Amino acid sequence: MKHKQKRILIVGGVAGGASCAARLRRLCEQCEIVLFDKGPHVSFANCGLPYFVGNVITDEAKLIVATPELFNQRFNIDVHVEHEVIQINREAKSILVKKLQDGSIRIEQYDALVLSTGSKAIRPPLPGIDLPGIFVLRNIPDSHKLRNAALNAKRAVIIGGGFIGLEMAENLVKLGITTTIIEMTHQVMPPLDAEMAVFAERHLRENGVKLILGKAVESFSRQQDGLYVHYSDGGTLQTDLVLLAIGVQPESSLAKEAGLQLGSRGGIQVNATLQTSDPFIWAVGDVIEVTDSVTQQALSVPLAGPANRQGRIAAGAIAESLGDCKKSHLKFRGVQGTAVCQIFNLTIALTGASEKALQRANITDYQTIFLERSLLFANGKEMTELDLELPAETKSVEQWKDIKEQAITRVEQAFLETALKQHQGDIKKVAENMGITTRAVYNKLKKYEINLADYRGVN
Ligand SMILES: Cc1cc2nc3c(=O)[nH]c(=O)nc-3n(C[C@H](O)[C@H](O)[C@H](O)COP(=O)(O)OP(=O)(O)OC[C@H]3O[C@@H](n4cnc5c(N)ncnc54)[C@H](O)[C@@H]3O)c2cc1C
Repeated sequence: MKHKQKRILIVGGVAGGASCAARLRRLCEQCEIVLFDKGPHVSFANCGLPYFVGNVITDEAKLIVATPELFNQRFNIDVHVEHEVIQINREAKSILVKKLQDGSIRIEQYDALVLSTGSKAIRPPLPGIDLPGIFVLRNIPDSHKLRNAALNAKRAVIIGGGFIGLEMAENLVKLGITTTIIEMTHQVMPPLDAEMAVFAERHLRENGVKLILGKAVESFSRQQDGLYVHYSDGGTLQTDLVLLAIGVQPESSLAKEAGLQLGSRGGIQVNATLQTSDPFIWAVGDVIEVTDSVTQQALSVPLAGPANRQGRIAAGAIAESLGDCKKSHLKFRGVQGTAVCQIFNLTIALTGASEKALQRANITDYQTIFLERSLLFANGKEMTELDLELPAETKSVEQWKDIKEQAITRVEQAFLETALKQHQGDIKKVAENMGITTRAVYNKLKKYEINLADYRGVN
């Protein structure tokens, strides 16, 4: 059946798919936009799931950003939840959709197709991995299962010390559950450089999280008295629940079966307007491979920010390709991998390439500088001396002094400018509310009292 209106079908209705749909409607008033998701919800806040499990977010409705009804009323977008797209027929420009409630299958045709099928949790084929009591956390139904299991649990083991593992550790500890993280690498948050991860590890331990680093889980078993996790070197832990948080992989099976080009990591290859190797199909979000804007290497970045941005850019490119819509010339220029994570009272943030990412990319032309403000108050008193170690890669003391002075000036100025803006230029208020830096400025001290330390030897 041919449609007069241009018809855009979107597969997957969370971060990338939902933002693409909403943007498309703004650019193309006449198009027919239809969105399918195999899950029971669209447009929900995955990032809130750990806090829903931890009962910090008590009301499930707070996780839902937009419902199918809202999409329909506000944007005239047709949303079908619990509808799985099972095949793409590129020649006929159609997809096969299975209605999960009754198993019926129908054909839907498109002028443009968007794939935002996300990623799936990695489940290594370890003995016992399918035992009851072992969970993943990807969506709202998963969070209910985990929440129910947590109600009766005294001990939990989280496998994987990435963002989700750490956020879940905080939430489980706050529920009174003895929580252990087992992480295969020698640090938590593998994207961070080891020197930074040390802060997170210390803070986790101080807050009661047990860490087993550098050990790989090998199997699970259920014995009469409960569930056991077996890890390398003969280690065993008894637990009431296990959360698998060892990462995700692109959910690209539909694209693969349709013969779209995939990258070496299994994500769909796209160009700067998120178009795949088929000119009528676009792909956004966790399912694609992106370029690291620093190293220029291909990678997967499963984060909501890039998915939303890519959804909007793809919408612009589709509108342009359909001819009679508003034009948009946005291009996707790669990712910096900016991420922020709070664990208890510590906020950890990263952006750009870490030292280890640079090394992986064989980039050697860089310097590392470690700034540690809390040392200002070491031993309960303010420190006025610069406490420095010469990093191995720095060629001379003079060069290091230069780097240090520049860094101090930049950091101090940034702090001061922000504080001045916040206090409408009132330097006295700034001095009262900020630490030693502005006090130094307020008192017209000549020398900034800041400590710049090489933190390499800390752990
Ligand atoms: C617990 C958790 C916490 C997170 N916290 C953060 C955070 O704090 N900050 C951050 O930036 N990112 C966070 N993320 C990651 C972020 O949620 C994802 O990067 C983002 O949602 C990716 O968007 P997407 O549209 O690519 O895929 P998703 O949001 O995963 O959506 C994909 C959708 O496609 C549907 N689908 C898949 N295949 C089909 C099919 N064949 N037919 C129909 N539907 C299909 C799925 O049901 C799913 O609803 C978190 C993720 C999780 C799981």
